[in-house]
Amino acid sequence: MEAKTQAVSPTILHQFPQMVNQLSHLVFNLDTKSISQEDLQTLQRTIVDIQNAIHALNQPAIRIVVDKIYQLIHKNIGTKHKSLSRNAINTLQSQVDMLRQVTQIHLETDIPQTSHESTQKLHHLIIGLHDKQLVEEIINQVKYFNYTSSSCESLEEIIELINHHPPNSYHAILLDTEFCTNKDPSLIKPLSEKVPILFVSFDNRVATRLFAVRAGGSAYLVRPVEFTHLIEKIDHIALNQNEITPYRILIVEDSRTQAKFIQQQLENAGMITEAINNPMEINKILQEFQPELILMDLYMPECSGFELTKMIRQQEPYMSIPIVYLSAEADLDKQLKAIKLGGDDFLTKPMEPEHLVLAIQARADRARTLRAEMIQDSLTGLLNHTRILEQLDLEIARAKRNHLPLSFAMIDIDYFKAINDNHGHPIGDRVIKGLARLLKQRLRKTDSIGRYGGEEFAIILPQTDRTVILPLIEDIRKGFSKLLHQSSDPLVEFTATVSCGLAEFTATNNTVGKLVQAADKALYAAKDQGRNCVVLDSE
Ligand code: GH3
Ligand code: MG
Ligand code: MG
Ligand code: MG
Repeated sequence: MEAKTQAVSPTILHQFPQMVNQLSHLVFNLDTKSISQEDLQTLQRTIVDIQNAIHALNQPAIRIVVDKIYQLIHKNIGTKHKSLSRNAINTLQSQVDMLRQVTQIHLETDIPQTSHESTQKLHHLIIGLHDKQLVEEIINQVKYFNYTSSSCESLEEIIELINHHPPNSYHAILLDTEFCTNKDPSLIKPLSEKVPILFVSFDNRVATRLFAVRAGGSAYLVRPVEFTHLIEKIDHIALNQNEITPYRILIVEDSRTQAKFIQQQLENAGMITEAINNPMEINKILQEFQPELILMDLYMPECSGFELTKMIRQQEPYMSIPIVYLSAEADLDKQLKAIKLGGDDFLTKPMEPEHLVLAIQARADRARTLRAEMIQDSLTGLLNHTRILEQLDLEIARAKRNHLPLSFAMIDIDYFKAINDNHGHPIGDRVIKGLARLLKQRLRKTDSIGRYGGEEFAIILPQTDRTVILPLIEDIRKGFSKLLHQSSDPLVEFTATVSCGLAEFTATNNTVGKLVQAADKALYAAKDQGRNCVVLDSE
């Protein structure tokens, strides 16, 4: 019998997330080749501890998942301490992901993680597909892209799941059109308003597609689906919704009260701002803050906004940054002169807050699109060769100034020529895109990722030293090696691996050239050691 309102021990409440974290570490470090008896015993002990704790917490939603994990471990290891199959580990990992998620939601705590992990938000998928093999494959593959998944047996089960979890617990639904046979689309429509639906179907008929549109589907994929394509679609519908990276706006304005006021308005609209009151500080802030748009006052004591704009424009990296004047100057001649000198636009004070926000948003958005075309590699959307090196230069300067660590990694796909030869160039391109996507998902927003050359990538990790970068890149290497790539024959799948060379910013590795050389040397050593491994430069 269960006690109704049992007092919950604060110690257990406090310790529970840590126990989940421990379990998570154990399970995600399981490697089929080297599971020891001791690992298995620790795993069993940990889940028993968690189960005891959850009975004291009166949290049915968490308990269901805990019980499932307990049974999985018990069934697979039992008393004879059998080793775990790859399949069992996969199932276990996705259940533990689920446990992390429900614990965070229901206990409203953050489970402690390392700095790199905590920035990777997990997204949760609901999968409603008939083909069990496909479901298993998707669950296994999407987890390398920071998705966890729950599989459902029917449409009713999906509705139930969504209605019993707080809003935003799930980020996308993968739905078989077969699940909806004889169903009214208006039954599914409300669901699609809560969580975006991606339909997956063998059926390419207009009637079925129309059904999907009426049911509120955001996308429709015809099987067989290629995995990279699927993950791209999932990313698109699950992430792109409210996650526009905030615009970075610099305000140059001699009046502190004015500057504060504008900052407040823009920040209320979700932008990131910095303000300087002394124009002489412009170069320092440009380098450190890397604004996407500058809002410039015209009249300041040390120099005019015209002069400052001209000076900014004379520096190569800032030649194309949009500069918008914000001034009480109503004289049209003066306004035109300002624009002639390199300003992009003129906004006249006083301005209604909403108008200011809209005007800035529209200009920053256009500037971002234009800039993206200039600095991005077209296949992967990552920084191009020139830009990643410029960024490295910048980060080195920052690391020197602030006495912070900095790491740099080079990643090269192994035997890529053979992949092209065996499967064709377009399939090779998809492998490159798959790696790009994985890197984007695994790294922080503050890390820079570039396509250095054909099948070679460069990564800059600010504030990261060797103790962090080594396990992180190792994890990415492992993750990539498990990704399945589909060849032009839908029945043939293959895997690929990468070699990685890492270098750390030090007293001697202190320029772009030296850091690149050090990482390159380590990369060659990794190739030499047989590939599919990570080597840290030994200086
Ligand atoms: P290793 O393990 O030593 O790195 O061997 P590898 O075959 O990967 O290295 P190699 O440098 O000999 O070959 C790289 C190949 O990558 C040669 C080039 O044709 C191909 N490649 C370069 N850029 C692209 C691209 O954008 N798309 C595709 N599909 N292939 C590319
Ligand atoms: Mg002024
Ligand atoms: Mg290669
Ligand atoms: Mg290469």
